[in-house]
Amino acid sequence: MGMLKERRIVVKVGTSTLTHSTGDLNIRRAEMFVKVLSDIKNSGEEIIVVTSGAIAIGVGKLGLKSRPKDIPSKQACAAVGQCELMHIYDKLFSEYNHTVAQLLLTRDIVENEVSKNNVINTMDRLLAMGVIPIVNENDTVSYEEINMITQFGDNDKLSAIVAGLAGASKLILLSDIDGLYDKNPQKYKDAKLIPLVTRIDDSLRAIAEGAGTERGTGGMATKLHAAEIAGEHGIEMTIINGANPQLLYDVVEGKQVGTRFIPEGAEK
Ligand code: ADP
Repeated sequence: MGMLKERRIVVKVGTSTLTHSTGDLNIRRAEMFVKVLSDIKNSGEEIIVVTSGAIAIGVGKLGLKSRPKDIPSKQACAAVGQCELMHIYDKLFSEYNHTVAQLLLTRDIVENEVSKNNVINTMDRLLAMGVIPIVNENDTVSYEEINMITQFGDNDKLSAIVAGLAGASKLILLSDIDGLYDKNPQKYKDAKLIPLVTRIDDSLRAIAEGAGTERGTGGMATKLHAAEIAGEHGIEMTIINGANPQLLYDVVEGKQVGTRFIPEGAEK
């Protein structure tokens, strides 16, 4: 485990935060998200964003009635949506004088040492230049069934891998829910939020079910997996509700919010 950069954070945001249920951009949310991140960056943190949302935004931009089912159409939507997504980030971050960069990654960065080092070096240089790297999976090259070799699986996992490569000290996932509950809150009204997790075992995995909506990533199951990857690098992970991007301030200040996953042996 290398040295973690105390003031480097990775923030993962997804379709459920950035878009309305109609699939169109949630302007208020997107603006608030970018504003809070810009302010946190101004306070001296280095920020890397891992973003999904390209397909949904592509569907909207192309004026399709619904999200396509076949992979080439999804890839086409992602390619259109990725441009639009970066345009939105570029425009919104520019308002606060911040420069963004697009990094489209494939699984190569885990398996191939040369590729991995290229990504690490590029991210480090961008951050040194004061730029905010915005990362997504390269859907044209890798998408689900099409290519199991090049694919990450989901952006929860991708964000944990990126946090590991970047040597970030914190990983923050914005979800459509306040955090991990002791059972699926969409099904059980008496479900209770778990504020702190220090150990990920089978009993915890059993309560984390799949995604609630098509606009989600992979539910809590993929988030637990991300927490495990982050934990292996000694990185703390927090799940917060993306409906309130202001919560990002609390996480950065070390306050208890959402569900915090503290790597085993690192309890503070
Ligand atoms: P996102 O990508 O925005 O995080 P997901 O749908 O992938 O959204 O993940 C959050 C969803 O996971 C919740 O809305 C809920 O439907 C589902 N879920 C399943 N089990 C749990 C649990 N134990 N605690 C919280 N959410 C859960």
